[in-house]
Amino acid sequence: MIRVDLRSDTVSHPSPEMRKAMYEAELGDDVYGDDPTTNLLEERAAEMLGKEAAVIVSSGTQSNLVALLAQAGRGDTVLIGAKSHILNAEAGGASALGGIVLIPIQNDERGTMDPTAIRLAAAPRDHHKAPVSLLCVENTQNASGGTALSPEEIKVMADAGRQHGLRVHMDGARLFNAAVALETPAAELAADADTVGFCLSKGLACPIGSVLCGDADVIEEARRWRKMLGGAMRQVGVIAAAGVVALDTMIDRMADDHANARKLAAALADMPGIEIDLANVETNIVRFGVPAHRGMEIQGRLKDEGVLINGGDSDLRFVPHYGIDSEDIDIAINAMDKVMAEVAG
Ligand SMILES: *Cc1c(COP(=O)(O)O)cnc(C)c1O
Repeated sequence: MIRVDLRSDTVSHPSPEMRKAMYEAELGDDVYGDDPTTNLLEERAAEMLGKEAAVIVSSGTQSNLVALLAQAGRGDTVLIGAKSHILNAEAGGASALGGIVLIPIQNDERGTMDPTAIRLAAAPRDHHKAPVSLLCVENTQNASGGTALSPEEIKVMADAGRQHGLRVHMDGARLFNAAVALETPAAELAADADTVGFCLSKGLACPIGSVLCGDADVIEEARRWRKMLGGAMRQVGVIAAAGVVALDTMIDRMADDHANARKLAAALADMPGIEIDLANVETNIVRFGVPAHRGMEIQGRLKDEGVLINGGDSDLRFVPHYGIDSEDIDIAINAMDKVMAEVAG
């Protein structure tokens, strides 16, 4: 029996208050723009991120896709972190559907990109090169272990792009985790971005959905692309209702997830065969290395202990979320203790 599912914060279920709000949501047809609950969510999201407008989309992937399609044309280049989710985990949508060239820029340990590398890649180009129109940054930085990039770190990257006229998109799938960890309003973290998307369905515990925010023109363009992708949804207020409750009730509580992540990470650091950089455990993602080629075996053994984890050949990841309490973390620690003693012993 599975007792503790720490594969991702996406496995979190909506709170009772969200379910009630979904049941009672006032509905219209959002494709006609008259779903009041969706309009409320979009207004609230835009306001919280300091942008003019917002649009609900089906997923974080679709949020990034419509943001790129709205700001880069066919044959344009988008500069993007080499470890970014958009480049590595979104099925190449921007290139396949938008004819967009993605040029990776190296991410350092924390996930930032060297401004000189951005400037070099963005510099004016002759007719041999695809024009560069957009820079993407990610916050929190998933592949670096959920590091929360500060407004200053983001500004350095954004300014480098702006020097050459680039727009900036922020993949803020877990932006509110960064806001909680840094005790900084999300709007401040998004201030240097033209567009910013965040997931409702991760740490905010909604069942479905993301919201993309930006100025009114670019969000209107994103709506057109969303329609083309088949992502315009009718009584989507059923989903938006959970989002409104999440913005009211689920942000501050993510500090618990971060505390659980730190507790888990500290215990892992003492186990044989585990490599972890505790300094990078800033939010709710706990990434660590295990002996080469033993990752799948560890995942299987943990499952036998009732604990689910995500990962690959030699890197694994726990992600605490709403519904996971400190006792669940103890269960995961005890299971890891047992499994690592067997694997590394
Ligand atoms: C999860 C995630 C996404 C994609 O979200 P989905 O809703 O799973 O499509 C995008 N970017 C980052 C950084 C993510 O962690």
